[in-house]
Amino acid sequence: MARVLVAIALAAAGCAELGVVGDGTTVSWGPPNRGVLVGGTRLPVAGEGFVVHPRWAARGTQWGTDELVDVIVHVAREVAAAHPGTRLAVGDLSIAGGGRSKHHRSHQTGRDVDLVLFAMDPEGRPVDLGEMRRFDASGRVVGGGPVLHFDAGRTWTLVRALIEAPGPGVANIFLYAPLRDLVLDHARASGAPDSIVDLAGQVMAQPGDSAPHDDHIHLRLYCAASDPRCHDYAPRPPPKKARPIRGEEAVAAELARRPLIGSMLHFGPRW
Ligand SMILES: [Zn+2]
Repeated sequence: MARVLVAIALAAAGCAELGVVGDGTTVSWGPPNRGVLVGGTRLPVAGEGFVVHPRWAARGTQWGTDELVDVIVHVAREVAAAHPGTRLAVGDLSIAGGGRSKHHRSHQTGRDVDLVLFAMDPEGRPVDLGEMRRFDASGRVVGGGPVLHFDAGRTWTLVRALIEAPGPGVANIFLYAPLRDLVLDHARASGAPDSIVDLAGQVMAQPGDSAPHDDHIHLRLYCAASDPRCHDYAPRPPPKKARPIRGEEAVAAELARRPLIGSMLHFGPRW
């Protein structure tokens, strides 16, 4: 069935090429912000330890690579095993076939997913949010309603499960830096090995041009080895202006302009 869907998707896309689809599984094609998803797998709206709330289910954004769907299912089980009763609330993956959607610049190739943050009440009891709520730098929920705090403990279980999950590996876990620090502090305090905490710190580093991610985690997986047309990152755009000539190039230009003796005296032997 998966092979048939892949064949149909490729034919519809008008860009079938031999050797791209590989073993007939899903194909992530291009960079996350300019690509498509071929033969995607649909995450069910509920499963062991996870749920897709109606707001996201209605968008039809539950399509991902096999690898991403596997990772979500795997880590949801791990978190539920460590914290019984927890349901990981899953937001957008990709639309069917991937590509640009009205909700995201990335999320185009089935390797990105948004996850609702875990919260707890002032007594430390877990509260599962049915919507994305923003948290301030101290980890306290922003806006009205009951006082809630960011749950660094369950988030650490999730982050560690992601890092240790089988598959192509986690490229990024985007999360508001103060919340990320709360998670890493919790990890150290709970005796997690330095190597895992260090890796988590690297994976959770947030690029400066991205939204703060203070109301959700954005997870991105690396390309699977079986997807040769998958690009982990968008190629850099060419520089807009030529850089000014500096250093030795400027001196060489100056030397070329001056008489040899004068230039040697002026710049000295170093140049
Ligand atoms: Zn996202």
